[in-house]
Amino acid sequence: MPQQPLAQVPHDATWFWQEHGSCRSVDPTLFFHPQNERGTARIRRDRTAKAICARCPVRLDCADYAIRAREPYGVWGGLSEDDRERIYRRLDSRNYPRQRGDGLRAAGSEVDRAISPGAFGVTAH
Ligand code: SF4
Repeated sequence: MPQQPLAQVPHDATWFWQEHGSCRSVDPTLFFHPQNERGTARIRRDRTAKAICARCPVRLDCADYAIRAREPYGVWGGLSEDDRERIYRRLDSRNYPRQRGDGLRAAGSEVDRAISPGAFGVTAH
C-alpha cells in the first residue's frame, strides 16, 4: 500500500474522542493482528474488535481520523485494514481528505457497512 508522507498525517487540535473510546478498557491486541495471523483467527479477532467499535460513542471520530491519517494497521472506527484499504484505493492522493469530517465524507456508506450485520457474518431473516 502506498504510504502517505508523515508530514501529511493530520494533527487534530483535539483528540478528546480518544479519551472516550470503548477500547480503552479492553485488550489492545484485539485491534491489531499478530504477525502471520491469517484466515479464521483474523476474521474472528476483527469481528470482536468491530463489535466493540459498534458500541463506541466516538466511532465516527475514530473512523474519520483513521481514514485521514491513512492508518495502515488495526481496526479503527469499526473499519478493518481491508475495509480501509478499499476506501484508500478510491481516494485521490493529490486531493487526499485532511480536514476533520472529510474522511467520513470520502468513505460514505462504507463506515456503516463495516459494522452492519453482514460484516459480522449475520444475515437478516
Ligand atoms: S471506534 Fe473502536 S478503535 Fe475507535 S476508539 Fe472506539 S473502540 Fe476504539
